[in-house]
Amino acid sequence: MTERRAEVIIVGGGMVGMCLAVALADAGVATALVERARMADLAEPERDGRASAIAAGSQRILDGLGLWQAIAPHAQPIHGIRVADGASPLFLHFDEDELAEGPLGWIVENTAIRQALGHAVTGADLLVADGRQVTKVEYGTRRAHVLLDDGNSLAARLVIAADGRNSPLRAAAGIDAVRWSYPQTAIVCSVDHELSHDGIAHEHFLPPGPFAILPMTGNRSSIVWTEEAARARAILSLDDAGFAEQLRLRFGSFLGQLSPGSGRWHHPLSAILARSFTGHRLALAGDAAHAIHPIAGQGLNLGLRDIAALAEIVTDTLRVGLDPGLEPALARYQKWRRSDNLAMLAVTDALNRLFANEIPAVRLARDLGLGIVHRTRPLKKLFMRQAMGLAGDLPRLASGKPL
Ligand SMILES: Cc1cc2nc3c(=O)[nH]c(=O)nc-3n(C[C@H](O)[C@H](O)[C@H](O)COP(=O)(O)OP(=O)(O)OC[C@H]3O[C@@H](n4cnc5c(N)ncnc54)[C@H](O)[C@@H]3O)c2cc1C
Repeated sequence: MTERRAEVIIVGGGMVGMCLAVALADAGVATALVERARMADLAEPERDGRASAIAAGSQRILDGLGLWQAIAPHAQPIHGIRVADGASPLFLHFDEDELAEGPLGWIVENTAIRQALGHAVTGADLLVADGRQVTKVEYGTRRAHVLLDDGNSLAARLVIAADGRNSPLRAAAGIDAVRWSYPQTAIVCSVDHELSHDGIAHEHFLPPGPFAILPMTGNRSSIVWTEEAARARAILSLDDAGFAEQLRLRFGSFLGQLSPGSGRWHHPLSAILARSFTGHRLALAGDAAHAIHPIAGQGLNLGLRDIAALAEIVTDTLRVGLDPGLEPALARYQKWRRSDNLAMLAVTDALNRLFANEIPAVRLARDLGLGIVHRTRPLKKLFMRQAMGLAGDLPRLASGKPL
């Protein structure tokens, strides 16, 4: 049995954990990454049928880490977003021409992001323990010790839990989380269509929840289709023709003939916010710290901002010869990232509740709200910059600066 040492151990090789591993390795920080799946299996298309809306701030992070080059051929720029409240004629339009920053974001299949990240992780100077589970973490005074299921262990001054929304490390460290479930399930699939989407994303707020049409490269779109949980189960159990029929009813005919892809995925929806993002020699990042409703496509973007902040704090701390696993560094992370995440969780939760509400007075109020935002340029620009991850106290990488 051996114990290997690093400065930082990241547990969880999802998109957030892998990205942080690449950032730290790039900065010359001795880093270990533990992931329970095999690296080669993480990018299997059937594992994750989702596509992610990558905000401009996140694209800068990926670009700054040299990852965007491999992702770009698979990234569809978003030139505009159309928001519609059910059958209401009121639309809210966001167009890239209203800002000088270029596309509003990009839609990329998660498989393409994972492939680029997996390739970078494999090529980086990292200690990778894949196909391995963490069985226990002992947080000592000078180091944390991460015990693996093969009997080996790793030691470092800081452990970063990027182990997803049910984070075993968060629970084992006794960090409580506020959590609630939505009575909704997100059905995810892709669709080929006859006509070009012109890079326009659509979000239709229907009574059970949002129905999002996200433009992908080519004449393809990714669908995130929210339904009440029992209804979602019934839709998912339909045969291909029945499923396509239900999809067409919601999608409409504005992009011509539709042909759904073969895969269907579903995600029960919930929200989680860890009461603290840190513990002794521990920091939580990505869904391990916060998981939100996908209504605004922001969960991964928040996670990427977390890791850009963490990479900055760890490298700044090490540069001045201090310990990144101790209070000053951890307190800086907690202060920096918890408020941004709390704000986004509150906004996405409120949006979901507001648009799933069929009381006539509420519908009237929200349609008026959409109309006001649509006509008030400064307000609209503010919303756009927030969603693009270009507002607030940005980490250096998210501002396009080197780490
Ligand atoms: C339907 C849907 C659509 C979405 N769309 C968007 C979008 O458009 N834009 C956006 O920004 N976000 C979106 N999100 C959110 C986004 O997908 C998540 O926020 C993001 O994937 C979280 O990544 P993560 O790496 O933090 O966690 P995960 O992807 O959950 O990764 C955690 C990793 O930790 C590993 N692990 C767990 N426990 C252990 C252990 N004990 N030992 C070793 N490894 C372990 C797991 O195997 C896993 O690989 C969407 C979410 C949903 C549900």
